[in-house]
Amino acid sequence: MKALRRFTVRAHLPERLAALEPLSTNLRWSWHSPTHDLFAAIDPELWTQVRHDPVRILGEVDPGRLDDLAVDPVFLADLDRAAADLDDYLTRPRWYQNQLDRGAPLATGIAYFSMEFGVTEVLPNYSGGLGILAGDHLKAASDLGLPLIGVGLLYRSGYFRQSLTEDGWQAEHYPAHDPQGLPLRLLTESTGDGGPGAPVLVHVAMPGGRILRARVWIAQVGRVPLLLLDSDIAENDPDLRAVTDRLYGGDQDHRIKQEILAGIGGVRAVRAYTRAHGLADPEVFHTNEGHAGFLGLERIRELITSTGLDFDTALAAVRAGTVFTTHTPVPAGIDRFPDDLIRRYFGGNEGEHESTLLPGLAVDRILALGAENEPGVFNMAHMGLSLSQRANGVSKLHGEVSRAMFQSLWPGFDAADVPIGSVTNGVHAPTWAAREWMDLARRLVGPELLEEARGWERLREVDPTELWATRNTLRGRLVTEVRRRIRASWLERGATEAELGWTAEVFDPSVLTVGFARRVPTYKRLTLMLRDPERLKALLLDETRPVQLVVAGKSHPADDGGKALIQQVVRFADQHDVRHRIVFLPDYDMSMAQYLYWGCDVWLNNPLRPLEACGTSGMKSALNGGLNLSIRDGWWDEMFDGDNGWAIPTADGVADEARRDDLEATALYELLERSVLPRFYDRDDTGLPTRWVEMVRHTLESLGPKVLASRMVRDYSVEYYAPAAAAARGLLPDDFSGARELAEYRRRVEAAWPAVQVMEVDSAGLPDTPEIGAALSLRAFVQLGGLTPEDVVVQAVLGRVGPNEDLTDVTAVSMAHSGSDGLGEIFTATTPLPVSGSVGYTVRVLPHHGLLANDAEFGLVAAPYV
Ligand SMILES: *Cc1c(COP(=O)(O)O)cnc(C)c1O
Repeated sequence: MKALRRFTVRAHLPERLAALEPLSTNLRWSWHSPTHDLFAAIDPELWTQVRHDPVRILGEVDPGRLDDLAVDPVFLADLDRAAADLDDYLTRPRWYQNQLDRGAPLATGIAYFSMEFGVTEVLPNYSGGLGILAGDHLKAASDLGLPLIGVGLLYRSGYFRQSLTEDGWQAEHYPAHDPQGLPLRLLTESTGDGGPGAPVLVHVAMPGGRILRARVWIAQVGRVPLLLLDSDIAENDPDLRAVTDRLYGGDQDHRIKQEILAGIGGVRAVRAYTRAHGLADPEVFHTNEGHAGFLGLERIRELITSTGLDFDTALAAVRAGTVFTTHTPVPAGIDRFPDDLIRRYFGGNEGEHESTLLPGLAVDRILALGAENEPGVFNMAHMGLSLSQRANGVSKLHGEVSRAMFQSLWPGFDAADVPIGSVTNGVHAPTWAAREWMDLARRLVGPELLEEARGWERLREVDPTELWATRNTLRGRLVTEVRRRIRASWLERGATEAELGWTAEVFDPSVLTVGFARRVPTYKRLTLMLRDPERLKALLLDETRPVQLVVAGKSHPADDGGKALIQQVVRFADQHDVRHRIVFLPDYDMSMAQYLYWGCDVWLNNPLRPLEACGTSGMKSALNGGLNLSIRDGWWDEMFDGDNGWAIPTADGVADEARRDDLEATALYELLERSVLPRFYDRDDTGLPTRWVEMVRHTLESLGPKVLASRMVRDYSVEYYAPAAAAARGLLPDDFSGARELAEYRRRVEAAWPAVQVMEVDSAGLPDTPEIGAALSLRAFVQLGGLTPEDVVVQAVLGRVGPNEDLTDVTAVSMAHSGSDGLGEIFTATTPLPVSGSVGYTVRVLPHHGLLANDAEFGLVAAPYV
């Protein structure tokens, strides 16, 4: 018989073990190995069965065992130590508090919105890199003491689980998770006397006068609360209960409902949370990818409703405190909705233009925020950019690609001037580094530094023999895991025990191990390694210097092309002559990923450049002393230094895709044969691969400090959150007088701009053949269309000039206002010639105001017509 419905009953803990409850529900256990060990000690066998889930082990352990533990002095000492450690972690001032004490102008509160969060496999609320990045962001924010609140949705089935059919085709399963059995608590209203009140229900209006309701679960990620909205409650109509059923599961209609709930409902959940906890409202809202971007519209509505601001003023106020991060370098990766769908969900009744979902907002104004060149299409990334004063990509290269990709929103500007910066992603060391490395780091650096993940470079000082022993231990652990998983996979594919003796011999703990694991969109090129199957076979089967290869990854359920690629790898790996040296492991997730990052000697990545925005798996490998073998894309483009791994030469620019794949695959094989393998297998008298170990040490030293999520979160704190908070704060006083001023300025500038013109530019001071550094004097006559000289900045722009008169390597110099005549206002500058060769200049006019983050912000520029 199958159960109709499942629910979870929590065990009653003996009084003396009460501390296990907070230790099991605060997800800090997921990156704190002593707490992990404590739960494992309850019942090691059961711990494996419940897949390392503290809440489950407490629910399923025999009550008699708990009574025994309640009088076991060793267990109790460990328990008390873990409880005291958690208490200390949650209360002691951290980096952020120390900065504030020193007077650093940091934000007093940040809300971080994302459609997915990967914190631990116990809470499978993610599909891949974006979600895991968001999880690492929360963990590092907790370690550093940021006053940050995470906001997202709780999916009943999360993303799918993957298995293989007999012939190697991907099969998908959607196990349902009961929130009662997860490490979550409900957000409740405060009753005033400190006790829990009724559960908070967030309401969002739906078309046809219906209401979508959601309860709010809180996952405690160390010091950081993560609010997760859940629509699966009896109060909702059946179809609305399903809004949070799956991650990336439905059609556009389903998706827009999810995004409305995450963005608009998410802000309402934040308000309920701060109200219940007596906290101040966040100053900064961080939109992690466009999906949650509706949050800005809700904050505009709040201001219009509560303070009577007009739309433009509210928009100015909201933009100041919003940070937008874009994660995709391809237009196809961006969420776009037909305008009609936006009208249906936001719009009012026939003939009325005020939004019913967000009263006070005109639907046409909403549509304008997400407009793109193609009429009738609403672009979530464009809205994200319109609603934020600060935006960034996730690696230096991706920042550059994003500036070009969104250039159309800044007509008249060179891509380099588009105001999108970059913060390179990072990974959370205590989550992703094997405990062996954490122990070594703790020994070398000390616990204080490790908490903020500083000092990782000192791992270079580990003795080479110990370092190599650690690598061998971790590779051995991976081999055991590979054998366990390949056997389980074959049983699922219909094999019998009797046929599977060979799986005990799969992989060899002494063979160079290469890992390739990631989602399977086309650009990641899962099958590039199979380009020349015979050559790959020769590498795998080499008698003296073999390679073994572990591959994993999920294809989006709707992507049959991706599934065919997986099948191609599986079929290759199924061949009897190579199956001991290459495996495809189904169901890539965080718990599998850890073994791969710990144990692989080489981490392979061969995307089509520049389609990998950042990539983080290679960073996790590097933290464990894995060497990256990768196309120079995303993070690797900026962090490869020639000695910390290998760069696969890219045939970027070769238009014929098949030829490009051939060239890059050949380069990959050659690197393996000529450089990677010899280094790994060259041993000294004691069996130590000295040159390899040297490379591992260099990797730990050069990449360790840069790939950390704590570095990323510090960058966001200082370069994005702090200025955004200052800007938002600056607009508030005297009933938003700053916001009014900025909105009024914008209206004035936009109205005047068509009449702003550079009438004439003349130069003086140069001899016939000037030398570099010679002074050039420029004078420009500018019509300001009613604006004052203080409303604008006039710049002389100098640089190298190409065959089409394009300026590159430019330097911009502000020109001073020095009077006016019949032709217009006069601006002048004298500047040394910055470069030699063919040099050119122009003059441009930009809006300029102290409350702007960037003079390019409005996308307005005037330059002489050429
Ligand atoms: C880190 C990680 C990813 C992201 O890896 P990329 O290099 O960005 O592809 C995806 N899935 C899991 C389980 C991860 O741990």
